[in-house]
Amino acid sequence: MKLYEHLGKDLFAQYEIPVPRGRLVETVEQAGEAAAELGEVVIKSQVLTGKRGKAGGVAFASTPDEAKKEAARIFDLCFEGFKTEKLLVEEKIQIEQELYLALTIDGSAGSPVVLASLDGGMDVEEVAEERMIRWPVDNRIGLQAYMAREICRRMGVSAGLQKELVRLLPKLYKMFREMDAELAEINPLALTPEGLVAADAKVTIDDDALYRHPDLPRITEKTALELKAEELDLAYVELEGDIAVMANGAGITMATLDMVQHYGGEPANFLDFGGGANVEKTSQALELLLGTGPKVLLINIFGGITRCDVVAEAFVRVKASKGIELPVSFRLVGTNESEGREILEKEGISTFNSMDEAVRHAVELTG
Ligand code: GDP
Ligand code: MN
Repeated sequence: MKLYEHLGKDLFAQYEIPVPRGRLVETVEQAGEAAAELGEVVIKSQVLTGKRGKAGGVAFASTPDEAKKEAARIFDLCFEGFKTEKLLVEEKIQIEQELYLALTIDGSAGSPVVLASLDGGMDVEEVAEERMIRWPVDNRIGLQAYMAREICRRMGVSAGLQKELVRLLPKLYKMFREMDAELAEINPLALTPEGLVAADAKVTIDDDALYRHPDLPRITEKTALELKAEELDLAYVELEGDIAVMANGAGITMATLDMVQHYGGEPANFLDFGGGANVEKTSQALELLLGTGPKVLLINIFGGITRCDVVAEAFVRVKASKGIELPVSFRLVGTNESEGREILEKEGISTFNSMDEAVRHAVELTG
């Protein structure tokens, strides 16, 4: 679970990592009030997508009026489909240098790893490999001071800065461990005249450990439709394209999405309605897809536990009750295939045997 910046910074503060003074606000008016209180400010959209700064989600203001203007502008922006609900208004800190510091899990090493660089800031992805120090941490030993000093040496930090970093690193490590984080990133870790300050916070908590953190709010990145699908116990992910895809099983669904793209189409979603779904559940899955307003519907069924007659019945039922106006490409093979075909043929609906043909047909139907 990703945490909003302000929540990440609350955690930093708990672990005595310095953060700028700030106010969390929900309206343009409140942004103005916060600026009146704090003076020169930074106004930051609280969204979970990275690269906010480059997308216009971070602004500076010297007066309350300016703060209100910038807040209004940011509230109107969309970040990868998400609106800003809250803004963090912070005192503008004086940054002399931007460092990068993170703890994350190295999956292949099976251990936490420190990532640290003197080249922090918005283009951290472009930092040369040798300028980004990687230090795996054996969690039986933890992050000891001598390790922190060695990390500093490899980064090439000055003696004064080293003293501060060596104090800060174990705090971040402690938080990372105690909070069951998968990522605790400070970018930029700002060097100011008052010392190091975490100007940004990106913290992700391991979903499987959330039960150990009942005090953390539960944050979802799901869209309204994805939440509805979750209630219906359907594995559904919204995508950008116009071909709605329904298939039975995660593997066949992903293969279908790949093939749609292979033939130049764009899938509108991932939907695995599971093996052994009954007519009711299959109908719900279909209705969900039709509600998204796709151009074409592609159904790809390779029935094992899933019965073709059940899928056919659900299709005919939804067609009768809600109407299915859009073109459909239907592939139906496997258990009870002939029964399924019979049900569909009565309604004048033909099906494909081959997935390849069905997918190509679907892409052609988009024109
Ligand atoms: P991100 O783009 O989502 O990572 O947003 P950040 O919170 O990291 O802000 C982007 C950039 O804005 C930082 O890299 C800084 O250069 C700048 N910035 C953010 N806060 C401050 C601040 O308080 N003072 C100054 N001078 N610059 C800031
Ligand atoms: Mn950042």
